[in-house]
Amino acid sequence: MLYHNDLDAIVYYQGAAEVAALYHQAFALAQMRLVAEVARRHQAGQPENTLYIVSDCDETLLDNSDYNAWLMETGRDYHDRTWSQWCQARRARATPGAVDFCKFVVEHGASLIYVSSRFEVDREATADNLRALGFPLERAGVDPDDTQLFLTNMRLNGEKSKKKQQFAYLLKRFGSAPLLQLGDNLSDHEADRYHYKVEASRRKASAERDARRWGDDWIVFPNPIYGAWRSSLQRPDGSPAGDEQPPSPYQPEPVRPSLNEAPKMSLLSKWQG
Ligand SMILES: [Mg+2]
Repeated sequence: MLYHNDLDAIVYYQGAAEVAALYHQAFALAQMRLVAEVARRHQAGQPENTLYIVSDCDETLLDNSDYNAWLMETGRDYHDRTWSQWCQARRARATPGAVDFCKFVVEHGASLIYVSSRFEVDREATADNLRALGFPLERAGVDPDDTQLFLTNMRLNGEKSKKKQQFAYLLKRFGSAPLLQLGDNLSDHEADRYHYKVEASRRKASAERDARRWGDDWIVFPNPIYGAWRSSLQRPDGSPAGDEQPPSPYQPEPVRPSLNEAPKMSLLSKWQG
């Protein structure tokens, strides 16, 4: 049988009880941090209503692994077009513990801000998907001063924005840093040092320097399937990708069997875009 290099990651993500446990563990930690901060503010007589939590969506609150399984099953690479089709299908599931955690945040008086790399054109579909799963999302419009949902290419001060600009915007809107930032990709916590173009060993060195923030204000979730961790391995010298680039020693070229040779597994989704 041909081996596809996403196979282990997708089987682990969809099949391992350990992944469910890791999600629950991360949300439990986030919940403890929130409870402690609410109590601290209450005791200190500080307002609690300025508290806010920023969460990534995909592979933090939403499980899109059926999309990745479909890419593998059909021998495709990721493409913005098929990704948008997947978002429009509103088929993402909730990650373990995510809905309960988000409800807990709102019930304890904190604001919940969803910051996602999904595209602005998929705003309605993303909001529909989140709400159908039970995530608290009252305001999902495009006004950055009155929305909980920030998406890639959303207009901030007339300019298209990404997470880096959105984090800065939220800092101004709330007048303080978020209590917690949740994400599966370290660029959900700090956009520059963990950017996908930053070489892998430099990202790892940053993660060591940030050791005290993990589990404090930065909460991380497992995603072995894709992310900046993988892109950063593809360019060991940090240079842009190009035809003349030698293959990375860390990241073999993907093996993509054709559809009729793809591994057949009961875990694979039958979703077809
Ligand atoms: Mg994510």
